[in-house]
Amino acid sequence: MAKIKTTFFCQNCGAQSAKWIGKCPSCNEWNTYIEETIKQDSKNDRLQLFSSEKNQSANKPVLLQDVGLQNFPRIAVPGKELARVLGGGIVPGSLVLFGGEPGIGKSTLMLQLALRLKNLKILYVSGEESEQQIKMRAERIGISTETCFILQETNTQNIFLQIKEIQPQLLIIDSIQTLYTSHVESSPGSVSQVRECAAELLRFAKETNTPVFMIGHITKEGSLAGPKVLEHMVDTVLQFEGDRNHIYRLLRATKNRFGNTNEMGIYEMQGEGLKEVLNPSEILITHRQNATSGVTIAATMEGNRPMMIETQALVSSAAYGTPQRSSTGFDLRRLSMLLAVLEKRCGFKLGVKDVFINIAGGIRVEDPGIDLALVCAILSSNEDLPIPQTICFAAEVGLTGEIRPVSRVEQRILEAEKLGFEKIVISSFNLKGLNLRNHKIEIIAVSKMEEAFSHLFG
Ligand SMILES: [Zn+2]
Repeated sequence: MAKIKTTFFCQNCGAQSAKWIGKCPSCNEWNTYIEETIKQDSKNDRLQLFSSEKNQSANKPVLLQDVGLQNFPRIAVPGKELARVLGGGIVPGSLVLFGGEPGIGKSTLMLQLALRLKNLKILYVSGEESEQQIKMRAERIGISTETCFILQETNTQNIFLQIKEIQPQLLIIDSIQTLYTSHVESSPGSVSQVRECAAELLRFAKETNTPVFMIGHITKEGSLAGPKVLEHMVDTVLQFEGDRNHIYRLLRATKNRFGNTNEMGIYEMQGEGLKEVLNPSEILITHRQNATSGVTIAATMEGNRPMMIETQALVSSAAYGTPQRSSTGFDLRRLSMLLAVLEKRCGFKLGVKDVFINIAGGIRVEDPGIDLALVCAILSSNEDLPIPQTICFAAEVGLTGEIRPVSRVEQRILEAEKLGFEKIVISSFNLKGLNLRNHKIEIIAVSKMEEAFSHLFG
């Protein structure tokens, strides 16, 4: 007789409790606990599906000096953007969680990957769409393949039976929330189901050295539906972001055991699928005939890639008592800090004004190197004085109004030069080690905000 056990799980963060509680102590959400039944089987019979002859190859300790660096022979990925975010390619035996809001294009990107990896046998398991729907999508993408199998199935035991038959070299799960395992009795998408299914996939990936991609839907609040637990289990977490109304999609790794997490990939949503954007600077800047006030260009870094982005500001008199501050794509608290510096150190009375900030193209920037560009955009809008579109900025602003240096200034300058900018404003602390003769762009080095302003506004 199987022992039946019930536990309460927070459907928001995956926290567990022996009894029902109204407010989750770990994520502070109300009314998120639901009772889930777990049938505790003897754990052994789950393993036998794919581990019959694997047990002899159990790992043994190795001397550190004998460990080779070529431990991850990666599978080459067609497409530079995905390859960069993954850290160079797909690592065999890795479990990758691919998250994003519903409808943003996760299935399309995964199907594109499956269609383009022509020399690998791929199993695409879909619990969301029928074979016909996937076929139609593949037709739209317009790439033919002879090595991609589609399976419409949601029970993991059945999926593993098919895997045994086909022996795929890459497994794609669309999506983890639709799967269920017979070992857990709660409904698909509940915390214990999602966790148990992911655990089975993890075991499969590690024991057979097969890479697994699983799509996971993200709730409106921005967390992976239900279980944060998933993020701890997998090797890599990829996030697909971007407003559904924007045509650009940003791919980031928020966790990566096999690479760094500050790389970003950009895609453009088109009728036939997602197209890589290899020269983001050119599309993120609006090419205007005449300079407009409140617009500046910042030379920023996304991971190892320099990128020119357009920062926009609108400053107007507050219509109703309390002035508004609003920011899209930039940290609101940092904006408040910059406004306070402008007010206190430079004497601009922005306390009674509404200030709106926007980073063009729907992207989010965390690099403080765009501070100076933002500050200049705010002043430009406030004074209604346009800044020529041939100038760009790469500097951080400190609390005393000093202009601080940025990382990798050389790369930023080169990118600005490549795109035909005539001047770049940087911190004078960045001048050290910079060979000005190498650059044909005019480099303006400043150490205080006043210097930058007097250069721009006279
Ligand atoms: Zn919680």
